[in-house]
Amino acid sequence: MLSMPLDLVQTIANVCDRVSAACAAGARDPQDVRLLLATKTQPADLVRRAVAAAQGLDLRTTGRGARVLVGENRVQELTAKAPDLADLRLEAHLIGPLQSNKVNHALRALALHGSACVESVDSWELARRLSDRAVAGATASPLDVFLQVNVSGEPTKSGVSPQAASDLAVAVGGLAGLRLRGFMTIGANSADRGLVRAGFDTLREVRDTVVSSGAVGTSDAVELSMGMSRDLEEAVLAGATIVRVGTAVFGTRPPLG
Ligand SMILES: *Cc1c(COP(=O)(O)O)cnc(C)c1O
Repeated sequence: MLSMPLDLVQTIANVCDRVSAACAAGARDPQDVRLLLATKTQPADLVRRAVAAAQGLDLRTTGRGARVLVGENRVQELTAKAPDLADLRLEAHLIGPLQSNKVNHALRALALHGSACVESVDSWELARRLSDRAVAGATASPLDVFLQVNVSGEPTKSGVSPQAASDLAVAVGGLAGLRLRGFMTIGANSADRGLVRAGFDTLREVRDTVVSSGAVGTSDAVELSMGMSRDLEEAVLAGATIVRVGTAVFGTRPPLG
């Protein structure tokens, strides 16, 4: 089969249609689900075109303007592309693992964007380090963060266990430099749709427990970042407020080296 030129308006419209259909099936308002473009391995000029396509569609379909975010997995890629995208004033999220020795690089690059969030907070140590840097002025303070939760228990996946998530969330909520905005997970790597859905339901239950705890700094932790190209329907049905989509927008990418 010949590979066809990438029609970003079409691929993004298809993703939006999938989100809308899932919202209809789940009696949800499509306005409550934002699209995060997972841009790993994609060059900045392609990201720019995708953002323009998504924003154009968004304006046509909702009249409300930009609900599209960008997400990078790797600090190195985030750092390389941020200067080329800074003028777009995007909301940029780090969605991949963050090592302590990369925190400063990550925050510097994120600060070039319109607004920023680290979705991959999965330990007290990382949270404290981010908070300290935010307080010290390395970024907008407080810095928006999500807790990454490993709902499937697969050992290859990052994230705190669902059992430990509530306590960590309450602790993170108390850090002066951070604003806990929600929770992130990567769905189970399984063809069993029910299993995938159950994992997403677990993330929603964690969020509900934390938000209803009344603990300091938890009342804004309402976002659920879950669902990718292969499982966004299950995620939307389970309550996703952000779906993170790469392949279904950009096509298959070269393997990460
Ligand atoms: C790559 C990636 C995505 C998007 O995955 P696709 O299958 O390409 O849609 C979402 N979230 C994270 C954390 C990713 O690394």
